[in-house]
Amino acid sequence: MIEPIFLQGICKDYLWGGNRLREEFGKVSDADKIAESWELACHKDGSSILRSGADAGLDLQEYVDRYGTAFLGTNCAGCETVPVLIKLIDAKQDLSIQVHPDDAYAMAAEGEPGKTEMWYIVDCTPGAALYYGVNREVSKEEFARRIENQSLTEILNRVEVKPGELYFIPSGTLHAIGAGILLAEIQQNSNTTYRVYDYGRRGADGKLRPLHVEKALDVTNLRTTAPTVQYPTQNIPGGTVRKLEACDYFASDVVNVSGTTAFSVGEETFHHLLVLTGEGVLKTAAGTAKISKGDSVLLPAGLGKYEVTGNCQFIVTRMDKPVRLK
Ligand SMILES: [Zn+2]
Repeated sequence: MIEPIFLQGICKDYLWGGNRLREEFGKVSDADKIAESWELACHKDGSSILRSGADAGLDLQEYVDRYGTAFLGTNCAGCETVPVLIKLIDAKQDLSIQVHPDDAYAMAAEGEPGKTEMWYIVDCTPGAALYYGVNREVSKEEFARRIENQSLTEILNRVEVKPGELYFIPSGTLHAIGAGILLAEIQQNSNTTYRVYDYGRRGADGKLRPLHVEKALDVTNLRTTAPTVQYPTQNIPGGTVRKLEACDYFASDVVNVSGTTAFSVGEETFHHLLVLTGEGVLKTAAGTAKISKGDSVLLPAGLGKYEVTGNCQFIVTRMDKPVRLK
């Protein structure tokens, strides 16, 4: 019998973080702030911890070391690790302006995949905004000069956000999450970030955080791109679904449950549920379990039918396409 695997997030206390993930989402950390909680992560910089089943206490890397990656499904055949990384992010202050490389550049320069990512705005303070791409085409020389003289924000799209919005950020797009935004991030399993502007801030050690200007000049897309994509809501029995994004790297939906919704996990891909609001009961052939805001649950490939009953909202992430191995 294949059972759901409940996961505990790995918390990061980056200098811009707040305390909402602890206070509202039940995240646990000894640090005095929680910037990010890595809810589905199998990476050298952090792996989520199993908190249910016979393997409770192992982290996902140890689980993969023990059992391999067949639980991810046939679309992940040949993968040595979980190909996506899913986080909750609480930006009490602005994040640095940054860019991520694509697969080819990242493999050559960093030995890991590139990073295309997607943000789902869970909550925000009124007027909260993010930066997304350039607001007009700029030359490499101008980009370099504006990093140097710290006027980069003048050529960036500043976008005010609302809860429920989606931002898809292909590798190469300049971006920054602004103060007051709490979001869920679905991304490739990569932790490579090239920072180009950090507001002159100093870390806990009193030092400026490093910038990565040369690499950013190599990888940044200096043409304009549309900042946000909205997806229609579809009614399903017991709730609604919004299909967020199906790119080469992941497919995610937001599901609102107001009754009983039914889904199925086949042999091709796992499902990962990240509960954003409310509570419900998850029913599988293996039994029932309560789920509530902040829970992270991996449903291994081949689990079969599952139902979620209650009043809640969750993001479900799958690998609908075969993962391209490098
Ligand atoms: Zn990023």
